[in-house]
Amino acid sequence: MKLSLVGAGPGDEELITLKAVRLIGEAEVILYDALANSALLKYASKQAEVIYVGKRLGRHSVSQEEINRIILQNCLADKHVLRLKGGDPIVFGRGFEEKDYVEAFGIPTEIVPGITSAISAPTSAGVPVTKRGVSESFWVLTGHTKEKELPKDMYLAAKSNATIVVLMGLSKLAEICAIFSNEGKGDLPVAIIEKGTHVDERVLIGTVSTIVSMNSTERLKNPAVLVFGEVVNCRQSDWLDEVERERLIAMK
Ligand code: SAH
Repeated sequence: MKLSLVGAGPGDEELITLKAVRLIGEAEVILYDALANSALLKYASKQAEVIYVGKRLGRHSVSQEEINRIILQNCLADKHVLRLKGGDPIVFGRGFEEKDYVEAFGIPTEIVPGITSAISAPTSAGVPVTKRGVSESFWVLTGHTKEKELPKDMYLAAKSNATIVVLMGLSKLAEICAIFSNEGKGDLPVAIIEKGTHVDERVLIGTVSTIVSMNSTERLKNPAVLVFGEVVNCRQSDWLDEVERERLIAMK
């Protein structure tokens, strides 16, 4: 009886830890969602029960309450349950909520960190989140708080010199750009990275003033990471060639 909360990495199926691969092989029940690459299920044992809890076309994803219930029920049946979550299980992943929930029933849990999209999607697109002389720090914000609002920290972020990485922010792109614009940052470079590290990754580069209209043509979709900062200009196309990034849909 145990729950393992495991990071599946950002999409590229090689960007997973050895520990995650071992645990996937050991688990008796695996719950995974849309952001975890389903190719990783090849490491599962043939006897494992595999449950998809993400969104399907035309249907809602399984609610958090239902996920908690499935995890608990299986743990109480003395199973080793593995929750495979995209990126790192904690970073905007509600991993701690699932851990707290089952621990309250006396069930042992473990958390296996994963490679978060917050860093790896920019890297994959050739945008370093820090670079000496360009950016001394990076902040990772959600575009979507529990109340479905932008976080108050976004206003502080727009004032800072940090690289600002926003997860779940694409639907709020115009609002976020308006906040940066109010700080006089209309020329600040911005990148949108869709499906970072996947073979069909797409990247759009613009500025605070241009990116909204650019994306109304290019229509990049979720999952996507937004990056605001001068580091976006460090993007090197030779680096991109090296990592086989083929889909450059726009350059500044
Ligand atoms: N725990 C995850 C994040 C979960 S929140 C992690 O550490 O990566 C979900 C958001 O993550 C998405 O809306 C998107 O903003 C971002 N995301 C996850 N995978 C991504 C990917 N491969 N490329 C771009 N963004 C991604």
